[in-house]
Amino acid sequence: MLDKVVIANRGEIALRVLRACQTLGIRTVAVHSTADRNLKHVGMADESVCIGPAPAAESYLNIPAIIAAAEVTDAQAIHPGYGFLSENADFAERVEQSGFIFIGPTANVIRMMGDKVEAIRAMKAAGVPCVPGSGGPLGEDSAENAKIAREIGYPVIIKAAGGGGGRGMREVRTEAHLANAITLTKSEAKAAFGNAEVYMEKFLENPRHVEIQVLADGQGNAIHLGERDCSMQRRHQKVVEEAPAPGITPEQRAEIGKVCVEACVRIGYRGAGTFEFLYENGRFYFIEMNTRIQVEHPVTEFITGVDLVREQLLIAGGEKLSIKQSDIKINGHAIECRINAEDPDTFMPSPGTVKRFESAGGPGVRIDTHVYDGYRIPPNYDSMIGKLIVHGRDRETAIARMRIALAEMVFEGVKTNLPLQQRIMADGGFCAGGQNIHYLEKRIAEAKEKAIKLG
Ligand code: ADP
Repeated sequence: MLDKVVIANRGEIALRVLRACQTLGIRTVAVHSTADRNLKHVGMADESVCIGPAPAAESYLNIPAIIAAAEVTDAQAIHPGYGFLSENADFAERVEQSGFIFIGPTANVIRMMGDKVEAIRAMKAAGVPCVPGSGGPLGEDSAENAKIAREIGYPVIIKAAGGGGGRGMREVRTEAHLANAITLTKSEAKAAFGNAEVYMEKFLENPRHVEIQVLADGQGNAIHLGERDCSMQRRHQKVVEEAPAPGITPEQRAEIGKVCVEACVRIGYRGAGTFEFLYENGRFYFIEMNTRIQVEHPVTEFITGVDLVREQLLIAGGEKLSIKQSDIKINGHAIECRINAEDPDTFMPSPGTVKRFESAGGPGVRIDTHVYDGYRIPPNYDSMIGKLIVHGRDRETAIARMRIALAEMVFEGVKTNLPLQQRIMADGGFCAGGQNIHYLEKRIAEAKEKAIKLG
């Protein structure tokens, strides 16, 4: 069992990790930037260390400063949360070389999954269904590339091997645009990710985003915890997530879950992870694996009763997975709304002081937020200030609870996307369930047009 953990993150996830440590009696070290002295978890942690100025590049991405914080506090392990250094293989490697435990998979596995060409190759070999594609990096020969595209069938999408955060992708509908699109994506990829390698996939027109949560102990044991539907997106960013995914049958879940579990065992996966799929016409197509805890993990916690962060900590402490696949039962339905400090119409970030915060409550309501009365949201980081998660015996109950909880919450002093979330929860298409990844953007564009017409 671990005795002291450095939490190398901020905001709601740092608080979430701190709470998990506390339930296991593990001591905690909060590391924070100069802009984050007032973070809720910093005050709650056993120790705290300032690791640099406000810009993330000098603090939350500052590898030597974080490792030094582990050294001076005599900690044993480092939890990276999500974002920042959580999927940085060099960080994981340096943490382990410095004699600490990285709470996540091995650096080699992170490196493999961070290169999408490598990841797809490994997943294909493990029997995971992938999007039809080039199967490897594209070369310079445009006749050869055109042949690959014809074989896949238009439209295709050119994607950066080192891409992330929804960037480094270009859709191509005709051969006339192919060569130019490849050149452009390569130079963008080189500039943004330092890796010019690109590959080609079939562009799926109307898929849903469905992902499988896994836990593995790196000692040959792995389980899946069902799926989440994260199709409500804006600019490839998830806005609402839910579990289970509407319309996915227990048989489908068992089948794709088993494939993911087998892949985990094969690659020696350790910790919590997510296999992301596009889902279209009843079929799953792997797009990438996230080798960390995800923002939307609470919906899975609600329907399975498993504390995923606690499991991460136990696995990192060297324990064998104590949960068997047969222990995992899907109970009811859970929905998460991300709460961002932003203008609900223009999506411009709205940092500043939260003069008054009122939470929500009642059966099946969970709020993961670091906000408190008087908390000042710094302008330096992501605009997500919390998550509202609800659980009910079925999807209708969950939606009803979400509507009430959204109406109950108050953030005075900053703008939030609560009005947008309320519109989504009242939307006929969302309530019907099973919308594709373009649905939300279409509805937002329609609403804007209507507002303009009404003047
Ligand atoms: P990132 O790592 O940047 O998030 P992903 O490979 O996960 O990149 O893709 C992000 C999003 O881009 C997907 O959720 C989907 O909306 C879109 N996308 C990616 N690949 C395809 C594809 N083959 N067809 C259609 N849309 C795609």
